[in-house]
Amino acid sequence: MKIKTAELTISAARVDQFPSNPAPEIALSGRSNVGKSSFINTLLARKGLARTSQRPGKTQTLNYYWLNERFHFVDVPGYGYAKVSKSERESWGKVMETYFQSREQLKAVVQLIDARHKPSEDDMMMYDWLKYHELPVIVVATKVDKVPKNKWGSHTKRIKEDLQMEESDPLILFSSETAQGKDKAWSAIQSALFE
Ligand code: GDP
Repeated sequence: MKIKTAELTISAARVDQFPSNPAPEIALSGRSNVGKSSFINTLLARKGLARTSQRPGKTQTLNYYWLNERFHFVDVPGYGYAKVSKSERESWGKVMETYFQSREQLKAVVQLIDARHKPSEDDMMMYDWLKYHELPVIVVATKVDKVPKNKWGSHTKRIKEDLQMEESDPLILFSSETAQGKDKAWSAIQSALFE
């Protein structure tokens, strides 16, 4: 897909700030440093639109990108930061819970994991939780340029097994360095958005 217009429209910190726009949306989730901003920037062919690596302690927000005046990407803060207070974590947890549980516009979640390593406990919990909410998940394994080609098969198998992935959920090997997987990622996202 070619992105002609891309605009950060709102950073929502609270449920009442979610846009009322009924256009379909795709959420993007993954632990900090997994390559989520790089993935977004590669797909949108924009440098630096999604800021790389949210700083710890910063207000956590769902960042809404309005694309081609037709759909949203929703950048969900990376999990795995513990440097906020317990009460902040709890109230943010409720925002996330509401979002994933009841957002009708949400068509699928892109969950990013690092292709080099075994999925972490957080990765597994997140996938489980999304499936509990019956959301379609597109798993994107990032930084595959760092994995030798002869290991791609075994890493793919391990990810599918560890996450206990559903057959209907795609797994895409991706690199923002080489743009490998970009077309596959777009086609999975497009079918989730518009079919
Ligand atoms: P975020 O915290 O998930 O948004 O991650 P970033 O996109 O900021 O990336 C974290 C680090 O990983 C940065 O140093 C990136 O340059 C690097 N990185 C991201 N994607 C790739 C990739 O596909 N290949 C390689 N080799 N490095 C990557």
